[in-house]
Amino acid sequence: MKKTALFPGSFDPFTKGHHDIVMRGLNLFDEIIIGIGHNTTKKNRYFDIDLMVSKIESLYTGISGVKVVVYNELTSSLAKAHDAQYLLRGLRNTTDFEYENTISQMNRYLNEELETVFLITSPEFAAISSTIIREVHRYGGNVDTFLPYKV
Ligand code: ADP
Repeated sequence: MKKTALFPGSFDPFTKGHHDIVMRGLNLFDEIIIGIGHNTTKKNRYFDIDLMVSKIESLYTGISGVKVVVYNELTSSLAKAHDAQYLLRGLRNTTDFEYENTISQMNRYLNEELETVFLITSPEFAAISSTIIREVHRYGGNVDTFLPYKV
């Protein structure tokens, strides 16, 4: 049976840390769906959603088994719609753990067949955070070294 994992997130922006999780996830799963959560009624993203989709898609051109979708529904429902049996998430530190623990319990409650799989960040990417990258970019700093593509 094909193993499909949904990797959900805001990806605002998608970083080298996220890319590392996808590449390592491909050793475990046949297919990874990168789900960009986007509430279409709230224009609260920093990086344009269409730009992010095209950057991520270009990154995985030629690598089979990676798909990008934008969604505005429960993560557990999106997983069901794509026959994903797993949710893939990354863990950098105890703050991530506290947050991830809560959402994974909730997702399990919403769909008990959905198993969340956590990959611990690679040390070289442990300090990369989308929030910090947005702040640096907002004030004109160069963020290229943290992203697996150019913005
Ligand atoms: P969310 O908005 O759901 O927190 P993010 O886009 O910030 O989503 O991140 C998606 C997933 O990637 C989360 O599980 C997060 O912990 C993980 N992640 C974020 N940055 C890194 C990193 N540098 N290394 C490994 N995992 C990361």
